Order: sequence, then C-alpha cells, then structure tokens
Amino acid sequence: MIARHRNSLAAIAAGIFLLMQAGLAAETATKTHDIQDTWNLDELYPTVAAWEAARPGLEQQMDQVGACKGKLGESAAVLERCLDDYTSLLKEFYRFYVYASMGSDQDVSNQDAMGRRQIVSQLGTRFSQATSFASPELLEVGEDKLRQYMSENPGLGEYQMFLEDTLRQAPHTLSEESENVIAAAGNISRAPGSIYNTFANAEIEWPTITLSDGTEARLDQSGYTKYRATGNRDDRQKVFDAFWGTWSKYERTLGATLDASVSVHSFRANVRKYDGALQLAVSGDNIPEQVYRTLVSETNANLATLHRYFRLRARMLGIEKLRYFDIYPPLVALDKEFPLEVGKQLTLAAVAPLGEEYTSVMEKGFNERWMDVYPRKGKRSGAYMNGAAYDVHPYLLLNYNDDYESVSTLAHEWGHAMHTYLSAQNQSFTNYNYATFTAEIASTFNEALLLDHMLRVARDDDELLYYLGSALENIRGTFFRQTMFAEFELAIHEAQGRGEPLTGQKLTEIYKDLLRRYHGHDQGVMEIDDLYAIEWAYIPHFYNSFYVYQYATSIAASSLLAEKVLAGEEGALDRYMTLLKAGGSDYPYELLKRAGVDMATPDPYRATFDRMNMIMDKIEAILDTREAASSTAAR
Ligand SMILES: [Zn+2]
Repeated sequence: MIARHRNSLAAIAAGIFLLMQAGLAAETATKTHDIQDTWNLDELYPTVAAWEAARPGLEQQMDQVGACKGKLGESAAVLERCLDDYTSLLKEFYRFYVYASMGSDQDVSNQDAMGRRQIVSQLGTRFSQATSFASPELLEVGEDKLRQYMSENPGLGEYQMFLEDTLRQAPHTLSEESENVIAAAGNISRAPGSIYNTFANAEIEWPTITLSDGTEARLDQSGYTKYRATGNRDDRQKVFDAFWGTWSKYERTLGATLDASVSVHSFRANVRKYDGALQLAVSGDNIPEQVYRTLVSETNANLATLHRYFRLRARMLGIEKLRYFDIYPPLVALDKEFPLEVGKQLTLAAVAPLGEEYTSVMEKGFNERWMDVYPRKGKRSGAYMNGAAYDVHPYLLLNYNDDYESVSTLAHEWGHAMHTYLSAQNQSFTNYNYATFTAEIASTFNEALLLDHMLRVARDDDELLYYLGSALENIRGTFFRQTMFAEFELAIHEAQGRGEPLTGQKLTEIYKDLLRRYHGHDQGVMEIDDLYAIEWAYIPHFYNSFYVYQYATSIAASSLLAEKVLAGEEGALDRYMTLLKAGGSDYPYELLKRAGVDMATPDPYRATFDRMNMIMDKIEAILDTREAASSTAAR
C-alpha cells in the first residue's frame, strides 16, 4: 500500500480522509520496543510547538498565492513568481500534513494528535479554495501566450509538465457556468460511495457461526478475512455460506447504490465530453485506453495459467474438486521466524542486484529511524510509505510480526520508499510525484527480487514450497483478481451505456459469468456456487471508477522489468533506475515505454504468465520427486 499525494489539494483532503477512515486501532499485543525502531519526527519539526508555530506562515503564504488571482497572464515573470509561491506553499503544507498525519498514526487514540490532523484538514480546504482559480485562469491565458512565456523565460522550465498537462485538459474544461454546476453537483456525486461505506462498515448485521472446534466466529469484514483461510473445509463452507448469505440479503439495495455510482461516472464523462467513463478515468494520467483493453484481452487469452494454479492447489490441499471457498487456505505452512535483523539482511541481499547506490540508502534509512516497525497498542494497523516530505525523506509504517509476510512487506514498502527517494533526489518538487499507474512497480519489483533470493537460500523443499506458494497466491490476488474486477467494471459501464438496467440481480449475473470464466467452472477446475456471486457487493473499489486495473498493470510491468534485470540484459538495470529517478517528470505510460515496457502491448502481461508458470514448474518438480520417492518407499 502507498499513501498517495498529488498536486491537488482536493486529493490531499481526500487522502487525509482515507487515512482517518483506516485509522483503526491495532489490536496486536504491545511489544517492548526500542526508540530506534520508531520514527524520528523531529526532522520535520523539532517540537509540537514548532509545528503549531508554522501555521500562521502557511496562512500568510496562502494569502500571497491567492493574490495571484487575475494576474497569471500579466507576464512570464509574474507567472513564474506565482508558480514559485504556489510550489513552496505546497511543499511546506505537505511537511505540515506529514507531521500531523503520522503523529496521529503512532497513537490513534491520542486526542491532541487527532486535533492536529483536523487542523490540517481544515487548512487543506482553505488551500483548495485559495488556489482553485489557477487552472481555469491558465486556460483563459491560453496556449499561445503560455507557450510564448515558456520560450522566453527559462525559469518556467520546471513547470513545463504542469503547464502542458493543464493545457491538455482544455477541451474538457467547460464554461464558468457549467463548471459551477458540476462543482455544485459534487456532493451529490459522492453520495453512492458514502452510502455504500456507511452501509458496509456500520449497518450490516453480521452473522455469528460456531466452528467445528467450538469457536464462535463473528463474520464481519475482518472476521471473514480471518476465518475464510481456516484449514477445516466444512468450516470454510460455513463461513462462505453465512457471509455471502448476509450480503445477498441486500442485493437489491446495493445494486441500486452501484447503479447510481456508475451513472455518476457516466455523467461526469458525458458533460466533460469524454467518450465514456473509462476514457475519463485513464485520461487523468494520460494512459491510452488500449492499455486497459490489452490487459483484459491478454488475461482472458491466458486463463489456462490461472486454472493450472487451481489444479495445483487442489493437488497440494488434497481436494478432489475445488470449490470457491478453497481459495484462501495457505498451500504450505512455514514454521520459521524472521526477526527484524534477519528481515533487513534478506531484503538488502535481495535488492543487491540494483547496486550500491540503492542498498546504501536503504541501510541509511534502516539506521536513521525512517521506519516505525512494530505493532503496539493504539498504533495504526497495516503498512504504508508516506513520501510527502520532499526535502526530508520517506517514512514507512509497518506492523512487523517476525513472519515471512512481514519480510515481504518490508521489501515492498522499501520499493515505494526508494522510488520516492530517487525521484526526490533527481526531480524538482513539481515533478517528483509519480502517478498511481507507476506507483506499485518499484514495490512489486522488490517482491520479485526477494523471491529470487529466497529460492537461492532456502534450506529445504518445504521452505521452497512456501516461498513459491506465497508468490503464486500473490499473482492470483494482485493480477488475476484485479483484472477480473477491471473487466467487471468495464462490463457494467457498457451495459448501462446500452440502456440495460443495472439491478442487483443483473450485477450478480454479470459477476457470476466472470467468476466462472476466471475460475474454470465450466472446465471442472473450480465450482462456483450461485450464492457466492454476490461478491461484487463486497468490493468498495467499484465506487472508485476504473482504479484497480493499475494493481494488475503494475505487477505486469515489474515482472517484465525484473525478468530483464535478473537475466542481466544489457542496459536493463540502467533503464529501470532511470524510471525510478524520473518520478513524475513525464506521463507514466511514456516513462515506462522508455524503460522498455509498452503497456499497450502483450509483452508485460505475458511476462507475468511466464513467471507464474515458472513458479508452478518448480513446485510440480518438487511434488513429483516427492511422490516418486514415497511410491518407491512403499514398494
Ligand atoms: Zn504498495
């Protein structure tokens, strides 16, 4: 996961909101921890008082930026000064936000810290209002004049990408009157998502079931995640039947909610003169629609690879015929601890192919308190990297648990951190912020390197099987499942576009077809019960138009990049490091093309399938050898 921040205050405000939403108390037992394993926030502000004292300065800077209103077209020099002011304000504001946000994540029950977070949120709204004039005014100044300014004033070079991107939006920016109507409709368009969130998180009455060992299991969202992986097959079925049975009671209501959300996406696309909601969604980062369509078509052409995984899963779990509730239990258990020092050494060794420049910064971060490592009472759960403090360094939040999953998360989050660090070192503040489309590449690249390393150091076959199995499951969840979601989103938007009513029942039918196709229901690979096709109702991402495909494209891109680097292909390492250092200095699709990966072609997707098949070849070889040995022994 990555804490994202874009050069738009609306997005920051939204980001802050999301962080607050997710700020649930960590339930894990407190472990005595060393100060060395917590953040040093003094690098941001030496004291809370210093943070408080920064606020009047920010407010004054906001007034200064606000005073640029009506002046952007006066001269190249005025434009440069206004953009400089805006940029330095944004940079300071990010720092101000990071301190408050992370301070609160250290202890979500701390009311003072929560209060600081609210101050940032209010200031963010004020910031948005003070700077909302900029884009429309720049468009009014016009392309010709802006180009003339850029050619006569080299100081504007730093803002070229920003200005070009603003100009690119011109055909989709409307008259002032229409823009006001859209802005006024903003609250209404957020309604489906917020109704869904309230319903799914606060109002559904969750069932409680009794498992075979007598455990009373309450199946709310986290209970479901916990119990669905249980080793007892009857229990798994009970969990699925009760959980999906509950969701299906609300099929009609949640159908109406999602239908409304799809209508909002289409409304936005129509009024802004896009050719559909998909085009609007991918246009933000200027991604060709072909990327989305290639992802979906290549995946469909290679579902046999996913089916092979399910057959292998059936073999390893010793189940004759898989059903959908057999998808989560781990293939192999690993009884091995990975204390933090071991995790660090493994990660450093894994990323060694990226060179000294990379590993030395990681080591520095390990030693200089860039991470808050261990779970403790009141600390935010999960893991993230926050890279918004441009001239400080990235910060990482972990809940390290001494298991292999923790090592993998460490490598993943450090992928984000190094991407941010290298970008910040090489790009101006305006251009260091990379797009979501490239955000999960460096993280999943590191996971690929970690797997490669673990396969070399594993002591025995059991350990090998564990690492291979966890990598397989990762590809299923991050690539195939997200692509299935992406295809579902496309299907429901298209169905509505054809005038078909999106009822809950209709959504369930569309989803069931996809579930069955992806899981090989008709080929006898895995049986999908009708009841489980309500799963669409459980996925909150569908309210965030065409977003999840970027998980799948990221892992496809990193698979191809890692394959080339590990094979020692000439220039591959350089191209990869150049990609990381480029940050947001160009559109992500172009940056990736320069790194040798064209996401509109089949190559990266095929690299993912190859990787998955390579992993399965290795697993099957181990299993075959074992079976041969045991049948010899039996004779
Ligand atoms: Zn991530």
